[in-house]
Amino acid sequence: MNRIVIVTTAYFDGERHHDDGPFSIEIVGGIITAVHRGDAVAEMRVPFVLPGLVEAHCHLFLNGEELDAQKRKAYLGASLDEMLAVGRRSLGQNLAAGITLIRDAGDMHGINTRLKSELATPTGVLPELRSPGRALRKAGRYGSFMAVEVTDADSIVSTIRQLAPTADDLKVLLTGIIDFEKGCMKGGLQFSLEETRLIVRTARELGLRTYAHCSGIEGLRVAVDSGIDSIEHGFFMTREILCAMADKGIAWVPTFSPVQFQHDHPELAGWNAETVAGLRRILDNHCEHIALAAELGVPIVAGSDAGSYGVPHGRGLIDELLFQHRAGMTVEKVLASATSVPRRLWGCVPADVRAGHRANLIALAGSPFAELENLRQVRWTLRGTDLLPLNAAQAESWTSH
Ligand SMILES: [Zn+2]
Repeated sequence: MNRIVIVTTAYFDGERHHDDGPFSIEIVGGIITAVHRGDAVAEMRVPFVLPGLVEAHCHLFLNGEELDAQKRKAYLGASLDEMLAVGRRSLGQNLAAGITLIRDAGDMHGINTRLKSELATPTGVLPELRSPGRALRKAGRYGSFMAVEVTDADSIVSTIRQLAPTADDLKVLLTGIIDFEKGCMKGGLQFSLEETRLIVRTARELGLRTYAHCSGIEGLRVAVDSGIDSIEHGFFMTREILCAMADKGIAWVPTFSPVQFQHDHPELAGWNAETVAGLRRILDNHCEHIALAAELGVPIVAGSDAGSYGVPHGRGLIDELLFQHRAGMTVEKVLASATSVPRRLWGCVPADVRAGHRANLIALAGSPFAELENLRQVRWTLRGTDLLPLNAAQAESWTSH
């Protein structure tokens, strides 16, 4: 039986920080068999260990590093092969950042579903992918690059039935997007409360969790009243909505990154000082409500919306975690939002660093509790018995028994 021992100075188990080490983690046949305080003869010695990270909201088929608006527009007409190549590169960027579970947020071409089937025949360390296929939107409304159009109750039900066999979750576009110049939402609700309830009920009957692209008070009210499982973006959040989310256990994926990028690089979109001030107000409101959500016990889940303008895959998630921390979440809560919380909410195999769990770990060159930026220093990823070294020196020191 393949047995390895890792000695780490400190670790985060998925919920709590353990810093009075060293700790020995014994793994036999890919399963963690013991975690205890004390040194041991070890195959690997590292400063810090935590569960593989989770990216809860990204669009793998989009390259967030492409900043030329014309090229981004033209890309939406690219061939499937070209889009698949972008998607595979995005997966690699996620893996390099220590991400072992991804929930894609939809694309019109089904690239997320194709990538999932490619990952189903795994060789070595690969991320797991949850995919919705296409999202749902109201005919003629926002979201043509990622969502299929529906019109009435019958088409809602039949479309969800069509999506279900290859989908892990159902994504619905409940609202439009933010008008950055006016500092408010563009367009009204896409679905009424009655329609949204039908969407949630139909998805549940087919075993799908639901997540809603939603910002602005009107949409947020419908989202919580419909009992959706997760609210994505959630800009213009209020205390009243957060209290309802905490009561119902509705998750929040705040996706700071795309809006923060607009704020930090106004020259790219040509925003004037007034628009930048408006963006600052939107972000300040978001920060204030993230801190409040954490206090109220709303399940906060980290997702960067990578693939969006200015948000790179992999690195974007780490940026998101830094934004959450700056907004007032503790490091333990920040790390839980990208490890144990999403896996628990989605019913996934747990990756907590505990005896009995399958190894799904990453090692860092320094503790994120000393400096959150250390999350960018991933040395290796271990999944079961497969190790992916992320720097050559570590690869050389690896021996398995
Ligand atoms: Zn998105």
